[in-house]
Amino acid sequence: MVEIVQIGSPPIDVHLRRSTRARRFSLRISNTSGEVSLTMPKRANAHAALLFASDNEGWLRQNLEKRPKQVVPVFGGTLLLDGAEVLLQQGTRRSPVLANGILAVAGQEEALGARLRGYLKTRARDRFSVTAQGYAQQLGQEVSRITLRDTRSRWGSCTSDGNLMFSWRLAMAPVSVQNYVAAHEACHLIEMNHSPAYWRLVEQVFPDYKNQRNWLKTHGSLLHRYVF
Ligand SMILES: [Zn+2]
Repeated sequence: MVEIVQIGSPPIDVHLRRSTRARRFSLRISNTSGEVSLTMPKRANAHAALLFASDNEGWLRQNLEKRPKQVVPVFGGTLLLDGAEVLLQQGTRRSPVLANGILAVAGQEEALGARLRGYLKTRARDRFSVTAQGYAQQLGQEVSRITLRDTRSRWGSCTSDGNLMFSWRLAMAPVSVQNYVAAHEACHLIEMNHSPAYWRLVEQVFPDYKNQRNWLKTHGSLLHRYVF
């Protein structure tokens, strides 16, 4: 379990990571996700960590501000997959191969964006066709068709004739978030609105929906930083 503390205003989330090897506090900003983590000795107390992070708030804000607004994937760089960073490497196989945190993609770097787009779309299709169908079944409903798009304003949608749409960028989000969006849209097969009755339905099939919804609110923009 990762503890999260917040410093300053607007708040910066700092993820506390305890390590048996750490001898002192150290702060790091992830290149890909912009996540701030503070590595600390196993037995150090969280309050001391919070003070350390607060002392470095100026440095943190400066560096968070300096981060590029857009990320173009390159070999040697990283990509988010199911919420975790994977290293991009040049590969030889026709389809990208994922193993041990490395995604090997064939072709030249100019083609990398297009290949990753295809790869994310396939992963999203594979996942949502299983999960959305599963949640629909729990609700006694049927999904007609699933489409994947690149949408900015919404992560998914549902039509009255049972077609569901999802953003393929969700393939970069944690699995729990992807599952929540699948459940969210499946519930719209019954309630085409966001009424209290609708949210009761969501809670029934996906009790932990609030955390996943918050993740999208706070981190959703990360998924749009990538230019493919
Ligand atoms: Zn909705």
